[in-house]
Amino acid sequence: MKLVQETPFRFRIERQAPMRVPGVVFVSRDLMPEEQALQQIVNVATLPGIVGASYGMPDLHWGYGFPIGGVAATDVSAGGVVSPGGVGFDISCGVRLLAADLHREGLVPVMDRLMDDLDAATPRGLGGGGVWRLPGPAQLDRVLREGACFAVRAGHGEARDLDRCEDQGAVAGADPGQVGTRAVERGLLQVGSLGSGNHFLEVQAVEEIYDEAVAAAFGLRLGQVCVMIHCGSRGLGHQICTDHVRAMDKAMIDYGIGVPDRQLACVPVDSPEGRGYLGAMAAAANYGRANRQLLAEAARRAFRQVAGAALALVYDVSHNLAKVEEHDGRRLCVHRKGATRALPPHHPDLPADLAPFGQPVFIPGTMGTASYVLTGVPGGHAFHSTCHGAGRVQSRHQAARSTSGRELRARLEGRGIAVRGSSWRGLAEEKPDAYKDVDAVVAASVGAGLCRMVARLVPLGVVKG
Ligand code: 5GP
Ligand code: MN
Ligand code: MN
Repeated sequence: MKLVQETPFRFRIERQAPMRVPGVVFVSRDLMPEEQALQQIVNVATLPGIVGASYGMPDLHWGYGFPIGGVAATDVSAGGVVSPGGVGFDISCGVRLLAADLHREGLVPVMDRLMDDLDAATPRGLGGGGVWRLPGPAQLDRVLREGACFAVRAGHGEARDLDRCEDQGAVAGADPGQVGTRAVERGLLQVGSLGSGNHFLEVQAVEEIYDEAVAAAFGLRLGQVCVMIHCGSRGLGHQICTDHVRAMDKAMIDYGIGVPDRQLACVPVDSPEGRGYLGAMAAAANYGRANRQLLAEAARRAFRQVAGAALALVYDVSHNLAKVEEHDGRRLCVHRKGATRALPPHHPDLPADLAPFGQPVFIPGTMGTASYVLTGVPGGHAFHSTCHGAGRVQSRHQAARSTSGRELRARLEGRGIAVRGSSWRGLAEEKPDAYKDVDAVVAASVGAGLCRMVARLVPLGVVKG
């Protein structure tokens, strides 16, 4: 493949048959990912109906079919396809940030108790059990259709929360009829749960502000305590991805579609299978959003009881989703996998009070390093997208082999970061050096013109999946 550096933070992979568009990777030389991830950018560039380019974000790394940190849009009316691999297994996995009316100094005397309460209030790990025990499929159906709105209607949250959620808390067009029985079984047991390893609920403090006006509009100030929640759609989303990849793998032939990698199974957006997947994907996305809403409520209770503090939702945005959006008058199916939508100021999908400032974007780093709040910029690239995290450099296996969970916890606690894990192994898999340098990833995102920095957060305590 021919890689051409266009700017310090932008490389182009020249189009060569069978690519339909070039690849564009927003990285610095230092962040250049492994060859396999670049090959996946090339593979994605061959998909029917793809427009613009096959994009890679600065945290790009290898994933199932599509790379993580991949963005690709297809033209719906020109036979463009939708691919579950372009969304990922953890459908609508995402991040929400809540801001406390509390300065970090005020937390010091109650920190231990707060962490114990958050630990007890946050169901997680590989097994079942969530904040809600659903009596049966009828309630699950409402979660799948109404997402965070159902949680709020049931008393778990405030109406304002929904204004601060992408899609006002629920993706339209959810079709529970496209969710298989195994997915339903798995979903029934896990509503309001964090999941494993990479997912977390973290107590953080605002360490630095880069843009006072935007930070103030987001409700953030120096020294403030925040809560960041990262989780997705659990076993339900995973099962939906599995089921629909299998179905598309068979159906693809009927549409005359060939792909260079079977993990890129796809069908036209505008086909029964395409609509079926998008309906199931929306249902899983809503499950993920209800999940984050319920966990946020559990955190609010703990904060109220232990610290007498309230938590206001800054925003909730997912980083694994395909969305039909309008760009330059065309209806495009925009896949963002390990990539975050970053709407520019005055975009019509922003809540009115955020319109002058752009969409809040949250970039978790690791439990031992910083995390960032960013915002979308006018122009932007890759259909208004940016990175989603630091991005892995070591596999879970590699990470766990070189560190013990106990050692890691001692090291973090020695630095004043409280750790509540769910397994030693899970903790070791998530050691900070298993990830890229989040400062460099964010600098590349800003340098590439994808977003702007608003604030830097540091961890005070983490409840790890
Ligand atoms: P993913 O969605 O790819 O699983 O994770 C998104 C990002 O979360 C990762 O790339 C990593 O940078 C970040 N991350 C993983 N664990 C933690 C954690 O415990 N705390 C924080 N702040 N970030 C984390
Ligand atoms: Mn996830
Ligand atoms: Mn995620």
